[in-house]
Amino acid sequence: MQTTIRSAITFQGVGLHSGRPARLTIRPASAEHGIWFKRTDIRLGDTLVPARWDAVEITPLCTRIVNRAGAQVSTIEHVMAALAGCGVHNALVEIDGPEVPILDGSAAPFVRGILSRGVRALTAPVRAIEVLEPVEVTTAAGWARLSPARPGQGLTMQFHIDFPDAAIGTQDKGLNLANGAFVRELCDSRTFCRQSDVDTMQANGLALGGTYENAVVVDGDQVLSPGGLRHADEAVRHKMLDALGDLYTAGAPILGHYEGHKAGHAITNMLLQELFAKPGAFRLRACDDITAAQLPGVGVAREEIPAVA
Ligand SMILES: [Zn+2]
Repeated sequence: MQTTIRSAITFQGVGLHSGRPARLTIRPASAEHGIWFKRTDIRLGDTLVPARWDAVEITPLCTRIVNRAGAQVSTIEHVMAALAGCGVHNALVEIDGPEVPILDGSAAPFVRGILSRGVRALTAPVRAIEVLEPVEVTTAAGWARLSPARPGQGLTMQFHIDFPDAAIGTQDKGLNLANGAFVRELCDSRTFCRQSDVDTMQANGLALGGTYENAVVVDGDQVLSPGGLRHADEAVRHKMLDALGDLYTAGAPILGHYEGHKAGHAITNMLLQELFAKPGAFRLRACDDITAAQLPGVGVAREEIPAVA
């Protein structure tokens, strides 16, 4: 069955790039609603923005959605990952500013909040997007591919990154997102960047809300953020968290195998554009019990949110 959050929950913080404070409230929604954002600080015009791939505006460092009236919300990827990973199919996400609060840089605070309210089943069957034919996007930065699901599995991922800074270096991770794996393995991994990029970003009006507390900052073989890393491979885990959030802009859970090689928000969005543009590459399918049991939100437990977060 489709689900929604049991009751509303509010988060408060500053946006990573804008540095602006915002309050974000996840509210229950009915079946077939999907995930929508609403800008409560905008008084005139259409303030509802669909969290959907065709509303994504390609930007270098975050996932931004914008509606036809120009209302936009930036950096939606971590709260989207939390909704995907907790199996919330329908929600209205109200926000009183242009950017989702970064909180601790991971999705763990959103996950903790959602699971504290609980998830409620609705009366419509859950549908998933089943990948039938592989699609692939390659750019100068990297590549990503979506292929049909492996036998008996729902969504699986394989990710590779490779950074010149020895504190990150080369990292590979594969994961089956079933059985609450997102909450156990990915949700507490924080966004990261290189110290050398911080000055450039800030000169360009980005990362204005960034601190050593809400992002892992590395310089060569040093981790500058106090307390160090939450996982030795925290960076690749965070890239998988981002990918899960970005893939959720498909509008439904995906049944397929995702591979990312130095991929980021733009490549994952282009991948969804490819998938939906290619006839016969996918089908929307009502999930039977066996398939539904493989979806990322099933088997999620609050006690399994890592204690560090
Ligand atoms: Zn991220």
